[in-house]
Amino acid sequence: MSENISQKTAISRKLRYKTQVFNKKLLTLHQISSMKQFKNYIVFIAICIGFLITPLGIDTIKAKDFTVVIDPGHGGHDPGASGRISKEKSINLKVALKLGKQIQQKCPDVKVIYTRSKDVFIPLDRRAEIANNAKADLFISIHTNALANNRTFKGASTWTLGLAKSDANLEVAKRENAVILYENDYKTRYAGFNPNSSESYIIFELMQDKYMSQSVHLASLVQKQFKQSCQRIDRGVHQAGFLVLKASAMPSILVELGFISNPEEEKYLNSEAGSTTLANGIYRAFLTYKKEQEIRLNSSSKTIQPSDLKIESTETADSGSATMTEEKIPIAP
Ligand SMILES: [Zn+2]
Repeated sequence: MSENISQKTAISRKLRYKTQVFNKKLLTLHQISSMKQFKNYIVFIAICIGFLITPLGIDTIKAKDFTVVIDPGHGGHDPGASGRISKEKSINLKVALKLGKQIQQKCPDVKVIYTRSKDVFIPLDRRAEIANNAKADLFISIHTNALANNRTFKGASTWTLGLAKSDANLEVAKRENAVILYENDYKTRYAGFNPNSSESYIIFELMQDKYMSQSVHLASLVQKQFKQSCQRIDRGVHQAGFLVLKASAMPSILVELGFISNPEEEKYLNSEAGSTTLANGIYRAFLTYKKEQEIRLNSSSKTIQPSDLKIESTETADSGSATMTEEKIPIAP
């Protein structure tokens, strides 16, 4: 009897020991498994961080963020300048839509926003507000120039925000800013700014534009395309006090496609070939600008600096080879 009891006790001890060993092994296996999972987790996080800090990662993130606002000048009851057969608002819209379509088709990473895509009136400050709300990377305003008493003057120019260096430049800004007179409450909306008074333009003397070099660089790229690939007369890059550019918080340009007051140029501006050529020219300049931006983001090496570029350009053979000067900019009506 006592032998049986001692045998049972021995078996019981053996079983308890085996159970303890088994539990220990199980615990070790569980720990190994948890550690493996933890290691996998760490590797996964490291890959994610690595992807984010590589140039490819930066490129993808930044590229998806690129937004361009295209602003066809005038619209609705504001026709802009008038020619013999057309109005400025229609030319601006046609070129703007063709430019936007090009970007949408060829740059799926770019978001295109229009301030207007049909014949409607949009207040000047609303145009800038659309760009600011969208946190746009670029603002491109499209206009057509005019001269009341000169039907031979022609050519394209691109403008950035700045202090007009001549009366002629100031007149171009005055004409474009005069659109606010179509707004009933313009005196309150624009803090008493009178677009026709030279004194009002003193605000542009005190202003500091941190996007100036980028804007001037893009403007010079546009003019290069107008001259080389569009075969237009190059009227150069200039600065003046444009309200719409002042209110937009990003690099911004205002393109004057040509002179609606010149019958020959008006015909060109209204033709399918003409509007397509001009839109393509602006598109190519946009693409160069955007690629340069991406290179700057992806590389610390020195790239083209806007300040290195020559701003003033020369006229094409069509109008002689004289160097374009500020004084040659036409006085608007
Ligand atoms: Zn205009």
